[in-house]
Amino acid sequence: MPVVDVIAAKRDGQRIDDDALRELVLGYARADVPDYQMAAFLMAGRLRGFDDREAMTLTEAMLDSGDRIDLSDLRGPTVDKHSTGGVADGTTLVVGPLAAALGMQVLKLSGRGLGHTGGTLDKLEAIPGMRVALSIAELLAQVERIGVAVGAQTADLVPADRRMYALRDVTATVDEPALIASSVMSKKLAGGAAHILLDVKTGAGAFMTDPDDARRLAELCVRIGNEAGRRTAALITDMSRPLGALVGNAVEIVEAVEVLRGERAGRFADLCLELTGRLAALTGIAGDADEGRARAAEALSSGAGLERFQAFVDAQGGDPRVAEDLSLLPQPAVERTVAADRDGHLRAVDPVAIGRAAAALGAGRERLEDTIDPAVGIELLVTVGDEVHRGEPLARVLARGAADAERGAGAVRAALTIGEAAVQPPPLIHHAIEAQAR
Ligand code: URA
Repeated sequence: MPVVDVIAAKRDGQRIDDDALRELVLGYARADVPDYQMAAFLMAGRLRGFDDREAMTLTEAMLDSGDRIDLSDLRGPTVDKHSTGGVADGTTLVVGPLAAALGMQVLKLSGRGLGHTGGTLDKLEAIPGMRVALSIAELLAQVERIGVAVGAQTADLVPADRRMYALRDVTATVDEPALIASSVMSKKLAGGAAHILLDVKTGAGAFMTDPDDARRLAELCVRIGNEAGRRTAALITDMSRPLGALVGNAVEIVEAVEVLRGERAGRFADLCLELTGRLAALTGIAGDADEGRARAAEALSSGAGLERFQAFVDAQGGDPRVAEDLSLLPQPAVERTVAADRDGHLRAVDPVAIGRAAAALGAGRERLEDTIDPAVGIELLVTVGDEVHRGEPLARVLARGAADAERGAGAVRAALTIGEAAVQPPPLIHHAIEAQAR
């Protein structure tokens, strides 16, 4: 079927049959289909939508455009976890080691931060010496040895998604559920894990601001994963405010280590335990999510998770002593406190504004080629629902210099809403979608 006819059919609201859709995606990956035709097709699809069958075909075609990682030689259940992204969302740093401590095998390919969201690779690189550019063979050998490895996506894995995602980004066609689901799931399926847990964010800092849209996306991803023969489940979780208290790179390592040392409670720690527990339940290591959470909490309190974190850092060339001495991480030149200018209750923390403020300090990037400063960031000292008093510290800004700190403090203050009335924060977990029965 000529590409122009496929575009016309989607423009007119028709479903595209498997062969035509597959040929379009693979043709685009080979650069036989030009950007302008794929852009027109993506916009037609963004406006008309895709059905579940088309979403599955898109996923399979993208998967077939490149290599797949074979995890079948690993002993123990293989797992992968994916967050749709947000602010102060470094759960991989805790969930990876905890899951490994419970006997799961975690080979995780992570991304870099962009715009207001952070990226696991940037956070890991804040640890002196830490390498994330590992070959698939190195990642596999490391997982076999210590149960966890985190590396960068390679160019040979799902090249069709790489090209299509870049095009979607500049043609206002990112936010279509089947396009997102096929993009996410093709990468997860190529990663090879038999068990996949998706953490689909909702709220002001997420792709899907509305919980119902997030749920539809999660359901579609779960259906695709299960149909492809992987045990896949999802959580819909809150991103109406930053997940953790620390936003940046080295500071997010600090938060992860403090959680693994059992020194920091809160929503970030709670979600890490929930995700690890659900992974344990997905694999059968635990009978259900409650037992899984209890097992994860044990791995935390026994120090087994922290030990695995140290082994993981050491294996990737990083300095494992950071787990005992956080001052070995890059330190900011200047710190500035943001104080409350009135009495009241903290009603909201705008995650996009906080993410952008951290990026402006140097913790993030506008373009993928920008460099970041690992030491800078923001610490939130209060959480939504807290009572605050005039003069009380609300946040700390960690900056390269006084002028940056001053600008950062203004941006943080503007991102926090203080009002008279108390507010009930939204739940951390909106909804869980279980894997289909085996
Ligand atoms: N993350 C992805 O990997 N793909 C999308 O389409 C959206 C978010």
